[in-house]
Amino acid sequence: MSAPAELLEAIQARGAELVPAGERLRVRAPEPLPEDLMGELRRHRDELLRLLTVLADACRDLPLSPQELRARLAPEGLADLAAGRIDAETLRAFADAVHASDAREAGHVPVGWTRRAHCRGCGPVYLWAPVSVDGCPWCLNRAKGLLVPRPPHAGAYCIQGRTVSGVLVTSDPPYPEDTR
Ligand SMILES: [Zn+2]
Repeated sequence: MSAPAELLEAIQARGAELVPAGERLRVRAPEPLPEDLMGELRRHRDELLRLLTVLADACRDLPLSPQELRARLAPEGLADLAAGRIDAETLRAFADAVHASDAREAGHVPVGWTRRAHCRGCGPVYLWAPVSVDGCPWCLNRAKGLLVPRPPHAGAYCIQGRTVSGVLVTSDPPYPEDTR
């Protein structure tokens, strides 16, 4: 693992956080950090700043913090990111996927999933196309006992709702159960 990625792990393990402030790096910590760790932070300041900025850029307009995004990356992923082996577009796609997955788990319909589809496991569900499938992303919710939003009736392909941070929020749960 590269030094900046290791340092971020070490900082997090102490309940501390690094906050980019322009050219500077602020440390928010419940108690003072050891001098050797502070020395390492100073030594790798530029790399850390770059890493934190890339993470913050990828989260822009998403209800996802750079810290949360970093926590969702595997250690190898973080090391690749610190070494510049993951470009901004790829990281953004990953952030979008994390967000869509979180939204789905919370029972919200991701943007664009406006068609009434049929899943053999779930029954009628919202998907991106009016398809009939053996399994769907909502199966993951079902397996965990989480909410599965249901299209109101056959033939409906447009859902009512409002967009919150890129996620279409449908009517309030619980949604009517439709087991066809
Ligand atoms: Zn399903």
